[in-house]
Amino acid sequence: MDDIKLYAATEVQLRELLKITEACTSDVRMEFGMSKCKVLHINKGQWKSHQEREIVTGQTLDNMDTDETYKNLTKATNTFAIPVLTYSFGIIKWSHTDIENIQIFIRTELTKHRMSHPNACKERLTIDRKQGGRGIIDIQSIRTKQIKTLRHFFQSKQTNLHRAIVKADKNYTPLTLSSPDHAADTHNPIESQEKINTWSQKALHGKHRYRITQDNINEKQSYTWLQDGQLFPETEGFMLAIQDQVIATRNYKKYIIKDPSVTNDNCRKCHQQKETIDHITSACKTLAGTEYTARHNSVAKIIHQALATTDKLIESTDPYYNYTPTSSKADKVTYLIDIAIPNDTNVQTTYAGKISKYTDLAIEVKRLWKQNKVVIVPLIMTVSGLTPNTFTPHLHQLGLDEKLHKIFQKSAGEQRADDPAGPSPNWRRDHGNP
Ligand SMILES: [Zn+2]
Repeated sequence: MDDIKLYAATEVQLRELLKITEACTSDVRMEFGMSKCKVLHINKGQWKSHQEREIVTGQTLDNMDTDETYKNLTKATNTFAIPVLTYSFGIIKWSHTDIENIQIFIRTELTKHRMSHPNACKERLTIDRKQGGRGIIDIQSIRTKQIKTLRHFFQSKQTNLHRAIVKADKNYTPLTLSSPDHAADTHNPIESQEKINTWSQKALHGKHRYRITQDNINEKQSYTWLQDGQLFPETEGFMLAIQDQVIATRNYKKYIIKDPSVTNDNCRKCHQQKETIDHITSACKTLAGTEYTARHNSVAKIIHQALATTDKLIESTDPYYNYTPTSSKADKVTYLIDIAIPNDTNVQTTYAGKISKYTDLAIEVKRLWKQNKVVIVPLIMTVSGLTPNTFTPHLHQLGLDEKLHKIFQKSAGEQRADDPAGPSPNWRRDHGNP
C-alpha cells in the first residue's frame, strides 16, 4: 500500500478517515511517512490555508503550501483526480457510457479554462507526452486493465475463501467472477499506437504528425517541451493548437469551418498574403520587424551567452533575458552562427538555405581574417518546437551542452505565447463547443 490519498467533504469526515487509516496501518504495523504527508483544504474552489492541524499517530500534519503543487496540470490530474476513480474500478459498476462521459467532461473543462483548443486533436489528450500527447491517463483503458488484474487475482487463488467469492459473484460486481471468460461491460482499450494512427490519418491534425516523422526531424527533442511540462497549461494548449492547425486564422475560418462572414482571408496585418498559421507564426512581413525579431533575439541571446561562458568571455551567468550580446574575434576558428525559427513546413529548406547563403562568406572570411577554419552553424528550430537532427551536433560543435536545446525551446515557446496569434480569449465564442 503506497501513496494513499484521502478525500473528504468536511473536516470532521477527514478526521474520521484519518482515524480509520491510522488504525489500519498500525494493525499491519506500518508506519506513516509523516514528512511526506500534507493536507490541502479547498473551499468553493479556493485554496484555504488552515490554522488547525490534523493529528495522526500523535504527530501533526502540515498544510500544503501553494508552491508545493504540481505546476504541471497533467501530473496533477493524473495524481489527484483520476485515482478517485481508479480506486472504484472493479467495485462500482461503471458503464462504458459513464466513463465516456467523464472523458468528455475532462475535455470540455480543459477547453472552458482555455487549456485545450475545442478543435484540437482529441486523441492527443491521452497519448504519452514523449509521443506528442498531453499524457492524461486514459480512464477507459485503466478501468479495463484494473478489472482484468482483479479477476486474475481472484480466479488464480486456490483458498476456499477465494473460491467461494468467485462462485458467489454472479454479476454482483463488475468483475463477474463466476463467469470464466467474461467481465461485465469492459471494452478493449484503445491502444496508444491505435490513437497515433487515428491522429496520423486526420486531414488537418495529421499534418504535424507527418512532419514530425520525417527523417530529418528529431522527434524526441521536438517534444522535450511537452515532456518537461514547464510551460503553462494555456501555452501548452496553444502550442498543440498551432501544431494541429486549428488556430482561428481567417484562412481557417473561411476554408475549414466555412464561416460565411469571412469573405476575405488575407492577413489582417500585412493584407498581402493568406492568413494561415504558418504565415502568422513566421512569414508575415509586418510582424517580421517586431515580433519575430524579439523572438529571434531572445533565443539568440541564450546561444551567445552560453558561448561566452564556455569561452570564459564573461564571468556571470545572468538570466538570458538580462543579457546583451557582445562580440569577440579572439579565435582562429570562426563560427558563422545563424539562428532561425521557421514554420514547420520549412525546416529542410531553411537549413539548406542558410548553408548556401553563407558558403561564399565563409570562404571570404577565412581568407580576409586569416582563419584556420570557418564553420557554418545553422541552429534551426520551428515555431512549434520541431527540432532537426542537426541541432545537437551543432551545439557540440560549438562546445555547448546539449541541454541548451531545452532552454532554447522553452524560450521560443514563451515568446510564442506573446504572439499576435496567441491564445485567444474567445476560443469558445469563436468556434462554439466541440
Ligand atoms: Zn501578414
